[in-house]
Amino acid sequence: MATKKSAKRGRQSPAMQQFFRAKQEYPDTLLFFRMGDFYELFFEDAVEAAALLDIALTTRGNDEHGVAIPMAGVPHHAATGYVSRLIGLGRRVAICEQMADPSQVKGVVPREVVRVVTPSQVVEEEALDARHPSYLAAVAGSAPQGEPFGLAVLELSTAELRATKLLGPAELLAELCRLEPRELLLPPELAELEPALGGLLSRCSTRLLPPEVPAQTRSEGPFAELLANAAQQAGPQTEDGAELDDNTVQACAMALGYAQSCQPMAQVPVQRIAPYDPSRQLVLDEAAVRNLELVQTLAGDRKGSLLQHLDSTQSPMGARLLRHRLLSPLTDLSGIRRRHDVVERFVEESTLRAGLRKHLSGVGDLERLSTRTALGVATPRDVGAIGRGLAVTKALFDELFRETQSRIDDPLLHLVPADLCEDLGKHLGQQLLDDPPAVATQGNIFRPEVDPRIAELRELSQSGKDVLLRLESRERERTGISTLKIRYTKVYGYYIEVTKAKLDAVPSEYRRKQTVASGERYTTDELEELQGKILNADERLRGLEQELFEQLRTRVAAEAPRLRRLAQALADVDVSCALADTAHRHDYLRPAMDNSLALELRDARHPIVERMVAVGQFVPNDVDLDAETQRLMVITGPNMAGKSTTMRQVALCVIMAQAGGFVPAQSAKIGLVDRIYTRVGASDNVARGQSTFMVEMRETASIMAGATKRSLVILDEIGRGTSTYDGLSIAWAVAEHLHDAIGCRAMFATHYHELCDLAESRPGVVNYNVAAKEHKEEVVFLRKLVPGGANRSYGIAVAKLAGLPPIVLARARALLESLETGQGTAHRPSRSSAKAASKPQAQLDMFAPLTPPTPSPVEATLRALDINQMTPMDALLSLSRLQGLLDSDPSS
Ligand code: ADP
Ligand code: MG
Repeated sequence: MATKKSAKRGRQSPAMQQFFRAKQEYPDTLLFFRMGDFYELFFEDAVEAAALLDIALTTRGNDEHGVAIPMAGVPHHAATGYVSRLIGLGRRVAICEQMADPSQVKGVVPREVVRVVTPSQVVEEEALDARHPSYLAAVAGSAPQGEPFGLAVLELSTAELRATKLLGPAELLAELCRLEPRELLLPPELAELEPALGGLLSRCSTRLLPPEVPAQTRSEGPFAELLANAAQQAGPQTEDGAELDDNTVQACAMALGYAQSCQPMAQVPVQRIAPYDPSRQLVLDEAAVRNLELVQTLAGDRKGSLLQHLDSTQSPMGARLLRHRLLSPLTDLSGIRRRHDVVERFVEESTLRAGLRKHLSGVGDLERLSTRTALGVATPRDVGAIGRGLAVTKALFDELFRETQSRIDDPLLHLVPADLCEDLGKHLGQQLLDDPPAVATQGNIFRPEVDPRIAELRELSQSGKDVLLRLESRERERTGISTLKIRYTKVYGYYIEVTKAKLDAVPSEYRRKQTVASGERYTTDELEELQGKILNADERLRGLEQELFEQLRTRVAAEAPRLRRLAQALADVDVSCALADTAHRHDYLRPAMDNSLALELRDARHPIVERMVAVGQFVPNDVDLDAETQRLMVITGPNMAGKSTTMRQVALCVIMAQAGGFVPAQSAKIGLVDRIYTRVGASDNVARGQSTFMVEMRETASIMAGATKRSLVILDEIGRGTSTYDGLSIAWAVAEHLHDAIGCRAMFATHYHELCDLAESRPGVVNYNVAAKEHKEEVVFLRKLVPGGANRSYGIAVAKLAGLPPIVLARARALLESLETGQGTAHRPSRSSAKAASKPQAQLDMFAPLTPPTPSPVEATLRALDINQMTPMDALLSLSRLQGLLDSDPSS
């Protein structure tokens, strides 16, 4: 629209011409156009913003057809809040500023777009979640060509650019789910990925980027050299073990080019590309992150997630680092042990820990603050916060150093960084007043000692104000008007106000300035002269302070890399203290880590479920897995027994351990795990709208493709989303493949009791069940994982617990009995038949007795029931249907 209109812009006012030019340059943004104290939006932007922000839609002037131009505006001082809301809704906002003081310019004020704020390209505190990263991700490459994808991840607010390559769409998806970018750039060739990603990355807005943009970034501009150097590294492995191939460099160019285009006035402060290799971390695919509720629950809440439970960090940097560690646990023993050493020391040193945590809560977000200075958007308050943060940081590391220096081998000593940025902290402390304001133009930023001019102008302005007070009391006395006041407004300057009742007493030399409802406002020669002095001093003071502040900000910006390193050291201390604190509070212990394929947990608990059941009610469990005779655990047991909980706690223990923390167990020995896969059966998985069986099978396929001998696989009720025979067959074949071909450690909870027969033909398969017993027809859950398959499923007892009426329960019991005696044995294959089931052919035979030649209608209907999926009402209806069938078919 803007382009069409711009053809005729000649007829528009100069300001509107500026608007059209800006709009043409930044077409798919909402343009915030500064006019005086407001940001105005025009045309469609106005209509859209008015609806999204619930602000008034008005008009301003007419277009060339005489049609009123829609307009909506927000006051400039409240703009940040409105902009945050718009980017929260996935919009992009271009901020077009007045580039000069309108009172100083003849004619139209120059205006320029100074920033584009997008979901990922935002650094304002209000718009960011302090505990969550705000990533821009860019993907380069195209799947059909078979080369790995390049992925770049840029966080503007911390100036961090990481890059990696990913072998295929599944790996890409897993990495993106882990990163949860706020904005994603795709080349047009990958447009077809967009819908698939949309479902998973609900808070992410995707954008297709034409190839010219990265090409330009690579050949010219501030990042050309960085990218060219990175490209030279292509091929040989870097020290991080990751490769910067051409697609990866291209992805970096996309991210940098886009970020820079959002900052027309400042250089994006990225100085290096950090390559990383996700396969060197404990690989958690998208399903594992989701099913294990690492950072949010299946329902999408942060509360109830592992992260929320473990997160007692005190600083935003710490919170973000903990999140990162939990989603990217280590796979190298020495790194893990180093982290455990530190946590162990902090568990012992509870006084030191408490002291450090107190300091940590006062360091502020040094990381993001320093980037704001680099982008030139930091306010005096921000820079003041850096100064205060540095003072606290110094006190913190002094304390840490004091407590540890006696032990040269103390792992805590290594947490103290060499550079505490003391010089900068001291400088800021000397320069800035204690509580600098949030705007740079209002003065009151610097200490008077900083510059003699500041002291002088403040004195002048202050003494002027004192003279004013004296003038006021003198005039009161002279005129006898006790209510006479000298006041100030921005528009009218200083004036003498006299209320209506006293107008008679006004001396003749008072000149009337303005009439207001309550009285009259006057001025005098003396007042005008004084006003000139005061305003002049104030203005010069504000100008001077602003200038000095910009110099100071530039100086701090130059130190941003140092500040970031220090912030990372703080984050490390914070995370270690937080993990120690959780370990101490919830009685977690240090796991023994090694390179074996064993996994031995004594009295392990589920960190979240343990908090949800009544105190002391959680039943801990032992789990032993190894590469030999305990490779694949088949776990049976009634619904609600605790199968899922037990399996998840094993995976969570591994993740917590390899992330560097302690585990909820009385002892743990963990042989390093390289990948964790989880698969949760369709009926347990409510969070997704897609065909659940398809999703289930796709996830199962990715396990088969990716799992290695060192992996841990958790299968929870697979094969449920299809008919019983299909499901059982698939579950059986998957279990066999895991055992025979992959040989990983695996836990497999299933309601197919038939799977217990696998143990007889496979050396590494063991049967366990989560015990329950029936007491006076009531099921009692013991929550104990015990050897052996479950002998029955207690479905009816659970149904009773759920409140099915006695008459239905009695009938069901009778039916079950008749099924289990008579031909009913058919519902389970006999154990002996499984013995013969070692060859694939024979396994199929095993199912033969499951299929009587011609099942009766009652039997067929009964078989088709999936009790696990039924509500009590479904059960009732089904029973009544069965009875109906009995009546009509006497043969059954
Ligand atoms: P299943 O997968 O066997 O159907 P779940 O693992 O979902 O059962 O557990 C059902 C509920 O039982 C859990 O929500 C929890 O309240 C409780 N529970 C599970 N395991 C334990 C345990 N070890 N100790 C106490 N309560 C448990
Ligand atoms: Mg379950």
